[in-house]
Order: sequence, then C-alpha cells, then structure tokens
Amino acid sequence: MTRAAWLLDDKLLPPHPVALDFDDNRLNIFQNAFPIMSEFGFTGTVFTVTDLADGQPLPRMDQFPAMRWDQLLKLQDAGWCIAPHTRTHRFLTEISLTEVRQEMDHSYQRVRQMTGEDTPYFAYPAGLWNEDLETIAKQIFRTTRHWFLAENPPVTHDTSPYRLPSINITMDMTMPAFETLMQV
Ligand SMILES: [Zn+2]
Repeated sequence: MTRAAWLLDDKLLPPHPVALDFDDNRLNIFQNAFPIMSEFGFTGTVFTVTDLADGQPLPRMDQFPAMRWDQLLKLQDAGWCIAPHTRTHRFLTEISLTEVRQEMDHSYQRVRQMTGEDTPYFAYPAGLWNEDLETIAKQIFRTTRHWFLAENPPVTHDTSPYRLPSINITMDMTMPAFETLMQV
C-alpha cells in the first residue's frame, strides 16, 4: 500500500481529509486513541522510536510507558501505519551528520524488518531540522514531517513532501483551543 498517495501520486482523497499521527510510540496511544479511533473508523500513523519498541532503556524518553512491537503490530493489523522516528530520539540538530544518518537509517530499516512494510515516512524528533538533515533524509525517506503550531497552512500540492506541516495537539490543550485549531 502506498502511503502519502495523494501528495506523491495524485491519488484522490475524500473531502476535508485529516491525517492523524502520533509520535514516540507511547502506550497510551494503544490504550486510549486506538479504541476510540477504531470506533469511528479512523486509522493513524505512529512515528516510532525503534529502540523504545525494542525495549531498550532511553532515560530521556521514560516519562511515559512505550508500546513494544507486539502492540505496534496490532495497530498495523488494524490498518495503521508504523513509521520511523529515529532509533533513540536524539535531537538531530545536536549530533553529527554521521550519527544523524545512523539514527534515521536504523529506525527505517528496523521498522521495515519488524512490520514487513516499507514506510519511508519520517518525523523529526521535536520537529528539529535544518537543510543538512533534510539532504540526508531525502536519501532515505519519501516524506518528512515538520512540527509547527497553529498558524501553519494545510498541505497542498505545492507543499514539499520533505516539509510537511502539522498541527501539534498537546495533552493539556483545552477543548475550545482544539476547536479553534480545527478551523485552520
Ligand atoms: Zn518524538
């Protein structure tokens, strides 16, 4: 199945489409979002930190329990996309370009190995990027997601697949604030 098919291959989408994606393979995605979204017929994407899915300790990421591969594969079976979000969630603007390539490529290969699906769609940790990172990302991925707040425009055919905007929904956002965001 080709993801990003509208942007890359001009496949049709229904009116008013929304892409729902979640970062960091937190267990609460599986516990909370998955059943509710299933009830309404929605699927999403999980940008996955592959060392977390492998059960490796990542001290910067242990604020929330993480999904492991068994949960991620259940999401995949339900039609969700499991996509790479680096190996260890290091901020890519703070490490060498050699390390950047390793973070990107390892997570891409590991997701493919575990899911059996090719998902070359990447999200930068904390949205941190620059053009050097983008040059490497273009050699591995077909799309990369940025992380903007409310004022970003929706995706159009003029949007670079390597600079996809998103609207960040935080867990402490109020319902009125959420409703305002949905007016974009
Ligand atoms: Zn993240």
